[in-house]
Amino acid sequence: MQTKKIILHCDVNNFYASCECALNPSIKDQPVAVTGEVTKRNGIVLAKNEIAKQFGVKTGDVIFEAKKKCPNLVCVRPHHKIYEKYSRRIRAIYEEYTDKVEPFGIDECWLDITDTVKFFGDAINVANTLRKRIKEEIGVTISVGVSFSKTFAKLGSDMKKPDAVTILSPENFKQKTYGMPLGSIIGVGKKIEAKLNKLNIFTLGDLADYDENIIKHKFGVVGQKLQNNVRGIDDDDVQNVEDTHIVKSVGNGTTTLVDVKTKKELRSVVMFLCDEIATRLRAKRLSGSTVSVSLRQNNLTWISKSHTMTKSTNISKILYNEAIMIIEDLWNEVYPLRSIRISVSNLDSENMSQLDLFDTDRNRRTLENTIDKIRQKYGYDCIKPLISQNDKLINSTALRIEEQENADNNDDLL
Ligand SMILES: [Mg+2]
Repeated sequence: MQTKKIILHCDVNNFYASCECALNPSIKDQPVAVTGEVTKRNGIVLAKNEIAKQFGVKTGDVIFEAKKKCPNLVCVRPHHKIYEKYSRRIRAIYEEYTDKVEPFGIDECWLDITDTVKFFGDAINVANTLRKRIKEEIGVTISVGVSFSKTFAKLGSDMKKPDAVTILSPENFKQKTYGMPLGSIIGVGKKIEAKLNKLNIFTLGDLADYDENIIKHKFGVVGQKLQNNVRGIDDDDVQNVEDTHIVKSVGNGTTTLVDVKTKKELRSVVMFLCDEIATRLRAKRLSGSTVSVSLRQNNLTWISKSHTMTKSTNISKILYNEAIMIIEDLWNEVYPLRSIRISVSNLDSENMSQLDLFDTDRNRRTLENTIDKIRQKYGYDCIKPLISQNDKLINSTALRIEEQENADNNDDLL
């Protein structure tokens, strides 16, 4: 018989606020909120520490509301790059215990320690060691769920916070979780929850006990999978960390048929390239924070410049804005351009940015994901950025890009 997997899910408590406190210990015993701009009317609380929570400060509160609840609230602006560094340092500790580490968002990871646990005692020992080490070495706390499946490891890490370990075993998981609401497990969104509620399914236990034929009929494979997950039949593997960091950069370039004389003319080409790069990043489930632009002028000199953003992305509009900003600085329109090349590096797994609490780009992200799906069905060219429509330069550029893609479709090392 196959042995049960041993999976941990580690979740940093109040990640952003905890990083700010670790960075600046003088505020650590005060109520702290990471917020948008204080001067802006729409500045909101993006994250808060445990003390601010006790005052009733909530994520999404407008700053002045939060200050009403908690007059001494220390408001700090977010430092995304620093959070990413903390995230990487924490992950490096996890990787000492197994090579099967799968990040989920910037502050959560699954670890499969089935094969390595024997070197470190038992699973609870590993969980407690991680909890202590991260507190001592990084200065933030984690909650750990220990279980036999990804679903229940994740649920476990939510059950006791902060700085805690929860064990959900094949023996105890029903008793401990079946009274919990459906929304407690990963994969149940508001929509499916409402539909399940209509069948009188409100708790995990209700779902586990329900007639599987009806679930299959009404919800298809998604429903079946959810029901299996709550029944403890969940074979999903923790993705090996090696699988997620291979590509170093994703780029694309083109030689235009006619020289580009103005920045305005260049915009459609930049959009075209960024759109294509972003699509490839999303297909690889990657996002990047450094944008590099190289331009070849008609005197055959190359000029180049890079810039690193505070946050990684795979959204074409953001890459475009960044590239345009670089070009503003880089090219003075004295010599017309022959070629343009854009690449994105400093790559990380998409999850790192996608599940960001401050995902202010959500609408744009949803739009671009939808475009990906339509293109998968009807071909890449069925949707083009408006700026590139009916543009002679782009139409000719498109042909050239295809040629170049064949010759040079590498995710190049810059
Ligand atoms: Mg967290």
